[in-house]
Amino acid sequence: THFGFRDVDVAEKEQLVGRVFHSVAEQYDVMNDLMSGTLHRVWKDQFVSQLLPLCGAGYGAKTIDVAGGTGDIAFRIVRESKAASPADPPVQVTVCDINSSMLHVGEERARDLGLYTPGSDAPQQLRFVEGNAETLPQFEDNSFDAYTIAFGIRNVTHIDRALREAHRILKPGGRFMCLEFSHVANPVLKNIYEQYSFHAIPAIGQFIANDRDAYQYLVESIRKFPDQRTFERMIREAGFSAVSHQNLTGGIVAIHSGFKL
Ligand code: SAM
Repeated sequence: THFGFRDVDVAEKEQLVGRVFHSVAEQYDVMNDLMSGTLHRVWKDQFVSQLLPLCGAGYGAKTIDVAGGTGDIAFRIVRESKAASPADPPVQVTVCDINSSMLHVGEERARDLGLYTPGSDAPQQLRFVEGNAETLPQFEDNSFDAYTIAFGIRNVTHIDRALREAHRILKPGGRFMCLEFSHVANPVLKNIYEQYSFHAIPAIGQFIANDRDAYQYLVESIRKFPDQRTFERMIREAGFSAVSHQNLTGGIVAIHSGFKL
């Protein structure tokens, strides 16, 4: 154990992840704002602004947002690409998540934003599909221009499998982009950040969702997630080229990118 946390086994981990997101689906967006002090919005904006020029906004590019949850990344892709090239065929975004409660909240938000009409036969810019990042048989090889995953891959049990699936479903030339918590190098920031995550996050989880354990798990999963260089190597091992990363907020979060050639 480390910082007093138990090591959780795989089955327990999957159960916890399921519980967290079923129990918080409704409050998920509020929780994000609370826990990150709204920083997650800035990180997501930055992430999508880096994706867009390269995923071919403006020619009807097909993108998939895996572990897409309540749609934060997908909605930004739709909005930003429209703003960048209003006259071009719209980008199509598939939101894929393992958790039906999260997807359901996402669908409702999309409908409220006027981005989605459930049950309509007209072509839709957004679609919501249940699926596990580790095996995505519902999607064919070489079918997407971009694959995004934000604050999701950390929750996946076999990250290597998820990366290989990402590579399989991307078209040649397609881009993989991941936004995830990472490792802080600066010792002063690292200390502040650890104090905050080990004390404040479980307390907020207890207060808002009445589930301290689940939030303690989330903090632990951040600590266990591979650092920037290690994760770059894993992306390369899944077959991607020109792999790079960029730190945001001193490495609290990092954007990783790779291309399928
Ligand atoms: N991408 C969204 C965002 O940035 O707001 C949601 C991030 S949320 C922290 C993590 C999401 O990953 C949850 O919606 C959860 O259901 C989903 N998830 C966890 N394991 C998954 C898996 N194996 N395959 C697909 N989605 C998964």
